[in-house]
Amino acid sequence: MPVPDSATFARILDNAQKNDYALASINVTSSNSINAALAAFAESASDGIIQFSTGGGEFFSGPAKDMALGAIAMAEMVHRISDRIGVYTPVTTDHCVPEKLDKFVRPLIENEKKRKAAGLRNLFNGFMFDGSELPLAKNISIAKELLTDMAPLGIILEVEVGVVGGEEDGIDNTGAAHDKLYTTPDDMVYAYEQLKDIGRFTLAATFGNVHGVYKPGNVKLKPTILRDGNAAICAKYGETAKLDLVFHGGSGSELSEIHETLEYGVVKMNVDTDCQYCFTRPIADHMLHNYEGVLRVDGEMGDKKLYDPRSYLKKAEVSMKQRVLQACEDLRSLGKSIA
Ligand SMILES: [Zn+2]
Repeated sequence: MPVPDSATFARILDNAQKNDYALASINVTSSNSINAALAAFAESASDGIIQFSTGGGEFFSGPAKDMALGAIAMAEMVHRISDRIGVYTPVTTDHCVPEKLDKFVRPLIENEKKRKAAGLRNLFNGFMFDGSELPLAKNISIAKELLTDMAPLGIILEVEVGVVGGEEDGIDNTGAAHDKLYTTPDDMVYAYEQLKDIGRFTLAATFGNVHGVYKPGNVKLKPTILRDGNAAICAKYGETAKLDLVFHGGSGSELSEIHETLEYGVVKMNVDTDCQYCFTRPIADHMLHNYEGVLRVDGEMGDKKLYDPRSYLKKAEVSMKQRVLQACEDLRSLGKSIA
């Protein structure tokens, strides 16, 4: 299936909202992690999202050192490979803080405008703006500007209200004020009212969630914050106004808490840290168990079969694929592809 067009992506989100499941949204930074995620989605008949961070884009761009170009190159790859699998794999970007908009989201929007003018389909289904470091009114006013630009292209904006704790890809919120980790219903209603007439958006509301993985007991999730926010919006604007919510920091969460959020409107959950670990785990094994094969020690020549990067990258892909399959199961998206 191709990467979906905007109408199809909207149908996918609607279907998830209506049927209380969510799409796994997997951060990727290489062709190997892209293929691991795509393999999991294909195998489980789950539609699932491939997403790129600013740092992931820059990493992928190699000598060009251009985060937008790297994201475009990865998106091109996803389009090519997805054409040969049986599920839809929307493509989005992850956290872009205000000072990176000119290097990442804005050039990506310009690229889509050029594609449209040339009669080409969109590369991306959504872009995220993370203005959580700003006062809410400023955060949402920038979001309005971006959505005004994106909506005519059929691209969805993801905004963040409240702060996701922890650290990811250079965004360090480990010292964030406690109350900022929990969005209020008033903030969610405000964001809805400001954005609803411009175009479609999703909202990362925070409920104590953090990036990264912590030992049990260190993260206090309050999923009822999502329920209360959506209840406040629906009370004022009716059931059809229910927000499409995004769960950041899915890696270390309890299954019961994940399931609870699905009822409250979560349609997308990001998984990054666990995928990174699962990718690296078998590589560590490979190196430690094959020390004398992967290295040329004491005048020996090593073993070409063991130091060929494909030998351990294949294992890394399989291991990460298993973690993505787990995410699809946790999010109840198995077999739900609309393709
Ligand atoms: Zn995040």
